[in-house]
Amino acid sequence: MTDECIFCKIVKGEIPCNKVGENDDFLCFLDISPISVGHALIVPKQHFTNLLDFPVGLDLSFFSFAKEMAGKIVKAVGADGFNLGMNNGRAAGQIVFHQHTHLIPRFDDDGLSSWPHADASAKELEKTREKILKA
Ligand code: AMP
Ligand code: ZN
Repeated sequence: MTDECIFCKIVKGEIPCNKVGENDDFLCFLDISPISVGHALIVPKQHFTNLLDFPVGLDLSFFSFAKEMAGKIVKAVGADGFNLGMNNGRAAGQIVFHQHTHLIPRFDDDGLSSWPHADASAKELEKTREKILKA
C-alpha cells in the first residue's frame, strides 16, 4: 500500500466509495465518473501498479469475482452486455496507478463506439508475431 494511493485509501475505508461487492481479495465499487449506468471498478485489496505486477495466484479469485459482479450488475441495470477493461500504463489511459478493472455495462443502443481498427499487411503481422515470439 502507498500513503497517497486513492484506491488504497478506499480499500482502507479512509475515503468513501459506493461499494457493490467484495471477496477476500477484491473490492468492487461504482466508478465516480461512469461511462454507463452501473460502471464499476474491481480493485485488488493489495496495491499493485498494473497487470504486470499482479500475482498469478489471484487470477482465479479475480475471474470468479468478476463473473459474479458482472452477472449482478448486468441484471440490476438491465444491460445487454458488458466490457471488462484494464488500462495498463499512461499510454493506455491509466490514471490511477493501483491496478483495477473496469466493468462497463453495455446497452444495444448506447452509441458507445469500440476501438478503431486499421488494416495491416500479412508482412507486418508476421514481423509483429516474430517479435512477440522472441520476447
Ligand atoms: P483508469 O483510467 O483506468 O486509471 O481509470 C481510473 C478510474 O477511476 C476512472 O474511471 C475514474 O473515474 C475512477 N475514479 C477515480 N477516483 C475515484 C473514486 N474516488 N471513486 C470511484 N472511482 C474513481
Ligand atoms: Zn494502492
